[in-house]
Amino acid sequence: MRLRELKKHLLDRAKSLELKNLEVALIIERATNLSKEEQILKAEDEIDEKSTELAISLLKRRLMGEPSAYILNEKEFWGLSFYVDENVLIPRPDTETLVETALLKAKELENPKILDLCTGSGAIATALSYEMKTQVSFSDISEKAIEIARKNYIKNTGFKPISRIGDLFEPWKDKIFDLIVSNPPYLTEEWIEIASPEVKKEPREALLGGEGDGLGIIRRIIKEAPSHLKENGYLLLEADYRQIGLCVRLFEKEGFRDIGIKKDLAGLERVVYGRRS
Ligand code: GLN
Repeated sequence: MRLRELKKHLLDRAKSLELKNLEVALIIERATNLSKEEQILKAEDEIDEKSTELAISLLKRRLMGEPSAYILNEKEFWGLSFYVDENVLIPRPDTETLVETALLKAKELENPKILDLCTGSGAIATALSYEMKTQVSFSDISEKAIEIARKNYIKNTGFKPISRIGDLFEPWKDKIFDLIVSNPPYLTEEWIEIASPEVKKEPREALLGGEGDGLGIIRRIIKEAPSHLKENGYLLLEADYRQIGLCVRLFEKEGFRDIGIKKDLAGLERVVYGRRS
């Protein structure tokens, strides 16, 4: 099949999902190794059967609701490129608000030791480390996530990763930090139920916060963080805008001060932070 024909075939099949030309071009790039520019120049080239079949099977996965980022094994975050697959949550633009806020706070501190909990693909730890030009520690309960996070961290920062596998602070028993940041699972069962097909393909373990209101894991982080923070150290969390008010009260209850909120690009409250007294 000629490339031009392959492209038409894929675009026809993709119509139901209103996939954009760009998405189809990326699928073709993945299957044939031809860049978008080359695809235009080589439209009349013959494409071998293996690549043609691969492109069709990738498109099928997309039509079944699998996110493009998993099909292409790539997602951009903070201008950096991250490997992703079905073992990790796909980094969201909203989370750049958490990175921005963490950077502002980290710059107030001298040589801060930073920890990213529930790191997933390693997006937050990598972006902070890249900007601060210093190592950032990270952990996750999922061994597969840590493997991916380490790869992403090394590729983008060149630093040796300081990573551990385990449940929240459990692997950091002996450690104390200046700044702890996390985008932990915080969705409720109901929110996942009504989410897009793409979200349903993401690891449930990375989405579901627990305890009915989705704040199960966040409650544990806020309660346990003070014993892993230096005095005046910061805790910063991402949550859903419907949870931020409750998070503020939890921060207050645990004795945090200078508590603040940041809105995401959509104007929704997304980040909550405070300082250990
Ligand atoms: N923001 C994500 C979503 O709404 C959820 C991320 C998370 O649970 N940490 O899909």
